[in-house]
Amino acid sequence: MSISPIHIVGGGLAGSEAAWQAAQAGVPVVIHEMRPVRGTDAHQSDRLAELVCSNSFRADDWTGNAVGLLHAEMRRCGSIIMACGDTHQVPAGGALAVDRDGSAEAVTAKLETHPLITISREEIAGLPPAEWDSVIVATGPLTSPALSEAILALTGEGQLSFFDAIAPIVTLESIDMDVAWRQSRYDKEGPGGDAAAYINCPMDKAQYDAFIDALLAGPKSEFKEWENVPYFDGCLPIEVMAERGRETLRHGPMKPVGLTNAHNPTVKAWAVVQLRQDNALGTLWNMVGFQTKLKHGAQSEIFRTIPGLEKAVFARLGGLHRNTFINSPRLLNRSLQMKVEPRLRFAGQVTGVEGYVESAAVGLLAGRFAAAERLGRLLAPPPETTALGALVGHITGGHLEGGAGSFQPMNINYGLLPPLEAPKHDAQGKRLPNKERGRAKKRAMGERALADLDRWLADAPSLAAAE
Ligand SMILES: Cc1cc2nc3c(=O)[nH]c(=O)nc-3n(C[C@H](O)[C@H](O)[C@H](O)COP(=O)(O)OP(=O)(O)OC[C@H]3O[C@@H](n4cnc5c(N)ncnc54)[C@H](O)[C@@H]3O)c2cc1C
Repeated sequence: MSISPIHIVGGGLAGSEAAWQAAQAGVPVVIHEMRPVRGTDAHQSDRLAELVCSNSFRADDWTGNAVGLLHAEMRRCGSIIMACGDTHQVPAGGALAVDRDGSAEAVTAKLETHPLITISREEIAGLPPAEWDSVIVATGPLTSPALSEAILALTGEGQLSFFDAIAPIVTLESIDMDVAWRQSRYDKEGPGGDAAAYINCPMDKAQYDAFIDALLAGPKSEFKEWENVPYFDGCLPIEVMAERGRETLRHGPMKPVGLTNAHNPTVKAWAVVQLRQDNALGTLWNMVGFQTKLKHGAQSEIFRTIPGLEKAVFARLGGLHRNTFINSPRLLNRSLQMKVEPRLRFAGQVTGVEGYVESAAVGLLAGRFAAAERLGRLLAPPPETTALGALVGHITGGHLEGGAGSFQPMNINYGLLPPLEAPKHDAQGKRLPNKERGRAKKRAMGERALADLDRWLADAPSLAAAE
């Protein structure tokens, strides 16, 4: 019996990985890639899986880094992006950096010569034809305007963003609650009945003044010429607000009204930085209104001057870029299908993940989900204890709705995985010093993830051996 093809729109990192996974499972695929017929503002070639900027897949250590764990999981799933990256790696210490031409050429050659893959060089300039009953949209942060408009018409106003306006996210365990306290402004109850929904960090006048000076002086990233990002009033970078007047932030996102410092009730804070819970697990907290173009190094340094955040661990730092992405938590189900039109799956950066590896990882899952469906099998998402499962869990439900624009792209990080008690002893039963427990915890989370991933792969044997 012949199997009809899965259509993949976009042959970037996600589309290439999705195509490989589906074809390796025995399902035919057609990749529709618009380059070189139509270019983007960032791609330079007509190769599939081109890296548009840096050549790094970041840290490669599964025992101590969340993206390293994602690498390890993807390798176990037979990822083409990881295999070609490994073959074409260049020296970069603990990171996996790749020869960008070599790796993209290798991916292109493997896909071009795969007997079940056809590559069609064309732009899909609207919703994919109705007769395509299984489609993966993997058109990335620079999705062509005609397709973006069609997606917008399908999803509705406010469900597709053309820019990310990212505020930093801090892990809960790194916030000093002897300084910060929980309270909602005016103790107002939220829909869930919680009157202490925010974490508040107080500043006195001297601290606020020093903070404003640091914001004004700190190095900022520039927009690329073609990005042409307009500032919307709701997402002005904090340094732009500070430039408009020293008091602007104190009357905006840092206003101290309606809040009483639980540790020092008689002294009114001059300004307050608020953090709002960002994920259902409650492990990640978003700095409210703190989108910024400050360089990453400066962000860590300046934000750690905020009382309570001196030891902050940032799961994500702020930014503002051109980026097309959908409101996945609302629009997609757990197998990445659009709820209102299940023949359409989404993958890659357009789903609201951030980064080469994360984009390819979501492509990997979309390819597997679509192939399983074609083969008449049910494929559950990977367990939430794995990096792959955590990523898909976050974009399809783990993120907490916090008003318009609250869902913003995210890299993989440990805060997306269910927490684990830090081990107190090593394998020999020797008590671990405090400073080594964090490292031991990451290793334990990695071990848990890989064991759970192996069980998931064993449950789907026909899709397990994609190499
Ligand atoms: C300028 C820029 C720099 C970045 N730098 C980094 C970085 O250094 N490190 C990092 O980890 N991440 C970076 N990213 C983020 C992200 O990881 C990459 O964009 C990554 O390539 C996303 O993978 P993807 O498969 O989702 O999209 P892409 O790799 O962009 O693939 C999408 C593909 O779809 C095609 N396409 C678009 N519309 C259509 C259409 N209508 N019909 C047919 N084909 C279409 C495009 O030509 C493209 O080939 C950057 C993003 C941008 C925009």
